[in-house]
Amino acid sequence: MSTAVELQHYISGTWVQGGGGILTSVNPARPAETVAHGLHAGPADVERAMASAAAAKHGWARTPAHERGAVLLRAAVILEENAQLWGLELAREEGKTLAEGRGEVLRAAQIFRYYGNDGDREAGSVYASPRRGEKIFVTRKPLGVVGVVTPFNFPIAIPAWKIAPALTYGNAVVWKPASTVPLLAMRLTQALEQAGLPDGVLNLLIGPGSIGTALVEHPALDGLSFTGSTGVGRTLAAAAAGNGVPIQAEMGGKNAAIVLADADLKLATEQVILGAFRSSGQKCTATSRLIVADAVADEFLAGLAATARSLLVGDPADPSTQMGPVISGAARESIQRGITTALDQGADLLIGGLPYEDTARVAGHFVAPTILELKGTAPADIWRDELFGPVLSVRRAASTQAAFDLANDSDFGLSAALFTQDVTIALKGMDELDVGILHVNSESAGADPHVPFGGAKKSGYGPKEQGQSAKEFYTHTTTVYLQGSHSSSLRGDSA
Ligand code: NAD
Repeated sequence: MSTAVELQHYISGTWVQGGGGILTSVNPARPAETVAHGLHAGPADVERAMASAAAAKHGWARTPAHERGAVLLRAAVILEENAQLWGLELAREEGKTLAEGRGEVLRAAQIFRYYGNDGDREAGSVYASPRRGEKIFVTRKPLGVVGVVTPFNFPIAIPAWKIAPALTYGNAVVWKPASTVPLLAMRLTQALEQAGLPDGVLNLLIGPGSIGTALVEHPALDGLSFTGSTGVGRTLAAAAAGNGVPIQAEMGGKNAAIVLADADLKLATEQVILGAFRSSGQKCTATSRLIVADAVADEFLAGLAATARSLLVGDPADPSTQMGPVISGAARESIQRGITTALDQGADLLIGGLPYEDTARVAGHFVAPTILELKGTAPADIWRDELFGPVLSVRRAASTQAAFDLANDSDFGLSAALFTQDVTIALKGMDELDVGILHVNSESAGADPHVPFGGAKKSGYGPKEQGQSAKEFYTHTTTVYLQGSHSSSLRGDSA
């Protein structure tokens, strides 16, 4: 497992070296260990990939939906067969645990299977016509060439939930993954190559953000799907709007868990721990804020801190590890700075906070599970800013309404978790909590492929992802007024 993989790009059905500078991905638990190494893509590679996708798009769009789906279904099988190995590679390159790495590859397979079967679902709609002898159909067509720009934290699942619908609805794709996780991007591309995807229908360009910028500015681009930070997403959205290109952007979060006085505290403890610390808190839907009812706060926080303290933090290659490192040294430093600022602004440290100094972890990008309590109403950066690490900030609430108000006290609106045993309060939470995803009595992270995924407020822009929502983005409609040739009624309007 310690051999470095040669980094390659996939253009027009061929694996090629890039024309850009050197790019190396490393193991965040042992940064001296190279995972993949090579040259990243350059401007000429962008041109070739876009030309290749443009040349392939018509043939793929004309391929029957069931044939397109069959390629995706074969890719799902390949992903399943490689789940163990690629899951291990994912843990090595991204830093999540082995179980999570394998689970993510299987999630990608599940997504490919869901979209692979799309040919069996409805492909448009029929409306009645006010005119005799006529029906009105709404049919769907692919956008054409779609750019896909993805983040580091789900190196195979997020690309899968963009690329699978893009392909099943007949688009050609040019994909730029995060430069910290190129190996897993190559694995997903290999699965589609082995599944028989025609040349040019998927092109992979590994490289820095400038490759994403080049994609959004390219005249052959017909749509862009982005997931990543809010700043980058908004920049790309502005550029796409300037070129009249539809964009879907899923961005940052500052997701709250609300534990009310009547909650099952054992369940809430287990779920808040998973939400805050699984994947080292590097999920867009991770729980980074906790609001707990005054009446149970002391008891709940004591139990939560004790459970968090017992988490085994270490090398993801060890199957007993429960939390690995964060993605990079820069991420670790920025998270540690966020903790220091919170302490300077008066937060109480309940656990964690300090960098590890033992030999097993000092060189890796580890951040200790950290819980900070914010007292009073003084503004605190940590309540507002996404740190994207294993850091949970806590506030107490005197009433259910105060708890909901605190949860909504954020520019973001991706997900939330509400813990209560009272269905009336759960129903009120459904109405009041301004988020794209709400979990009642389960952690704030978690999504199924057949239902919409995405955020409200600063967390999302454009149509949602997954399920039937993906169709809204990856296709456009043609409204067809169909008259039989022997119709007795002529159209009377002139709109
Ligand atoms: P990031 O914004 O740094 O990078 C995302 C992608 O954009 C990468 O491929 C990156 O190379 C590219 N990029 C960076 N700068 C660019 C530029 N100027 N022009 C074009 N492309 C550019 O995000 P990240 O650090 O990889 O991921 C973490 C962020 O992603 C967090 O904010 C997290 O909340 C968010 N995220 C959101 C969701 C969601 O569904 N809402 C899911 C996962 C992650």
